[in-house]
Amino acid sequence: MDNPIMFYSTNHSSPSLPFHEALLKGQAPDKGLYMPEYIPQLSNSEMLAMKGMSYPEIASFVIGKFLKGVIPEDILAELCKDAYDYDVPLEHVYDRKFVMRLDQGPTASFKDFAGRMMGRLMNYYLSTMDNDLLILTATSGDTGSAIANAFYGFDNIKVLVLFPEDEVTLRQRKQMTTLGKNIQIVGLDAKFDDCQALVKQAFADPDLEYLNLSSANSINIGRLIPQSVYYFYAWAKLSENAENDNVVFSVPSGNFGDMMGGMLAMKMGLPISKFVISTNENDEFPEFIKTGIYKKIVPSKNCISSAMNVGHPSNLARLVALYGGVMDETGHLKKQADQELMNKEIYSVSISDSETKDTIKTAWDKHQLLLEPHGAVGWKGLEIFLKDQDEYNKPDQLCVSLETAHPAKFPEQIRDILNFDPELPPSLEGLEDKDEQFDTMENTYEAFRDYLKKNY
Ligand SMILES: *Cc1c(COP(=O)(O)O)cnc(C)c1O
Repeated sequence: MDNPIMFYSTNHSSPSLPFHEALLKGQAPDKGLYMPEYIPQLSNSEMLAMKGMSYPEIASFVIGKFLKGVIPEDILAELCKDAYDYDVPLEHVYDRKFVMRLDQGPTASFKDFAGRMMGRLMNYYLSTMDNDLLILTATSGDTGSAIANAFYGFDNIKVLVLFPEDEVTLRQRKQMTTLGKNIQIVGLDAKFDDCQALVKQAFADPDLEYLNLSSANSINIGRLIPQSVYYFYAWAKLSENAENDNVVFSVPSGNFGDMMGGMLAMKMGLPISKFVISTNENDEFPEFIKTGIYKKIVPSKNCISSAMNVGHPSNLARLVALYGGVMDETGHLKKQADQELMNKEIYSVSISDSETKDTIKTAWDKHQLLLEPHGAVGWKGLEIFLKDQDEYNKPDQLCVSLETAHPAKFPEQIRDILNFDPELPPSLEGLEDKDEQFDTMENTYEAFRDYLKKNY
């Protein structure tokens, strides 16, 4: 039992690796994504013990289950304490319906949870090996700033972020471009999916092997595992009758890293009766759940919940793997997943931009619940689910909807819809006055390769 958990590639053509090697590689050489060969199971008493733990303690416990034998317990506990030094509010809305605000980290997005842990783990392993890395990451808005902040100032890690110039807000951009040091930012006249494709191609390019490239996108297993922690945390704080208090989680989703964190939690034994997976108008996933047929959306649609404008979510390959199927990196289903089980555990719905805006308005008017566009997609999905499925529509059904960014990151929309300016969290104050520095680049692989060779 002391053998470390191995991580296999969802394409099944690369060897399995222990956690730290999978973490430093990012994507598997066969372009698959790493998944644990075995999912540790939590006993009832372990679950109950979490009720008395702080967030960093739960993090250390849950992550430690996957990292047994590859990191000393006390070091992991220290890293968790250092990474999770902010609040995780569970806001009561009505009955037993809650919103979990994952927006109190340094970049005010839920991506801080994953980025800060992954950065610290990478830094720990690299320092024991006297090695360095260049992290390439594509962002649709929030990943870039979370990763840039999470890795800022590390000696042995450089970060290069690609972003679609027209798809990120000024504030999101400034969270990345005002850092400097080991952080380099490049804007493209392109879509998020184009940026992601460039990054993926660079990983597979033998010409660039000398750069020791790695990924911080949600394709990295080191981001996924920390994202299972807050599901446990919500349950630990909110459940009453430990054994039967099944939770419904509603997760606004784009690349499905957040959802996959929750999936891992459920497969570890967390009593989750349903995942409500809401997307914006990029509805390839709700369609897939309904029909079993997967059609990516190219190009992806530009919706106001901009961090979820993903037409071909990379983590889908992991979900399919978890349900016994095989999907390659192009979205081709080589082996069908257990569609029936998936349908039982997941309810998925697409929310239009106009529904998103209406939800921001009604949530505020009805419940004094302040949501930004991503969280509104999640909340609306939960409302639709409860209306649609009577057996869950009861006052004592525990439901937790995830708010993935701080409303102050989207001031234009909040002002338009609610006629006031959301208060800035301390982490976003003073951003306007800072100087920006970033490059621009043509959207071709040749240009990207030249840029990398010239700069690193
Ligand atoms: C990235 C992001 C999402 C989508 O998360 P995935 O893990 O890609 O599904 C949702 N909301 C916000 C604010 C984000 O930044």
